[in-house]
Amino acid sequence: MQSRYALPGKPVQCLLCPQSCAIPEGGWGKCGVRGGRNGAGVIPYYGGITAAVLDPIEKKPLYHYRPGSSVFSVGFVGCNLGCPFCQNWRISQNRDAPVRYYSPEELIRQVQSAGADQIAYTYSEPLIHLEFLLDCMSLARKAGIANILVSNGCINPEPGAEVLSLTDAANIDLKSGSEETYRRVLGGDLPSALRFIAAAWEMKVHLELTTLVVPGLNDGSEEISLCAGLIAQVSPDIPWHLSAYHPDYLWKAPPTDPVRLTALAREAGKRLSYVYTGNIAGGIADTRCPDCGKILARRQGYRTDAGGLVIKAGVYRCAHCGGPAPFRGKGSCA
Ligand code: SF4
Ligand code: SF4
Repeated sequence: MQSRYALPGKPVQCLLCPQSCAIPEGGWGKCGVRGGRNGAGVIPYYGGITAAVLDPIEKKPLYHYRPGSSVFSVGFVGCNLGCPFCQNWRISQNRDAPVRYYSPEELIRQVQSAGADQIAYTYSEPLIHLEFLLDCMSLARKAGIANILVSNGCINPEPGAEVLSLTDAANIDLKSGSEETYRRVLGGDLPSALRFIAAAWEMKVHLELTTLVVPGLNDGSEEISLCAGLIAQVSPDIPWHLSAYHPDYLWKAPPTDPVRLTALAREAGKRLSYVYTGNIAGGIADTRCPDCGKILARRQGYRTDAGGLVIKAGVYRCAHCGGPAPFRGKGSCA
């Protein structure tokens, strides 16, 4: 299949992400999944899925969107970044990882037969498979299935707006507040990630952000404060997940200290309304009502007790004081 985001030629010029690859004849772009053949951009991994499973929505992580629900989750091969601590490197850095090919129709049928009403494009980087993503998202919308995107957000503005127009909820990485770290360590681009985050917010996609806190890379107080400031510029009400790293791929530093992670989250919580820790026991996991302070959703691991929430006229409210609760998405709060 041919790329919809490439100028033909030898080399082919890819227009999808800020890597701006000039793909040589017979070669591949940096993501490893977009190639150049006979002067055209090709996407031979269209429909290639590494995993298709039901996950708790909290695993994406999305804490303020349909708490306690399940989401049919699919992964892909390849990535346009090369984070040396990647926790999914076996698929993100290896286009030869085993895949099963689906047509968009087959995949959406699979979602329905699993009894799910939402699908997450997740695990490695879905945006580099944009043609397949858009085809699936359009079908999902028609079938009443919500689209959830989990991404590094490094995409050019036009295709970015295209995918956001079909996205119901997103968790986007803010990997660092430093342009140099993005460029030199991750092989990415901070301004494009920030642009995508701002666009998602403006387009009213339900938005949460994640930062994997990696010792020796981005675990300094100044760095976390810088990220909190960048988020606050978009909105202080965007939920932010500070997740613990464990040694993987090329990064050998010891795992993130849970006490330090919690302290960083508490500090960030002075500027942002909802900051959570992830991948550790305990930490900060519950959501409190912004009006009365009572617990709206209590979490342990991926288990959620949303007994502090009620839905009235399709809107989440605090069960204690009746004030509006910062949650979105259709359905029950079970
Ligand atoms: S999507 Fe892939 S081929 Fe295209 S510019 Fe980005 S890394 Fe390069
Ligand atoms: S952006 Fe995500 S999937 Fe890609 S290399 Fe980095 S951590 Fe891995």
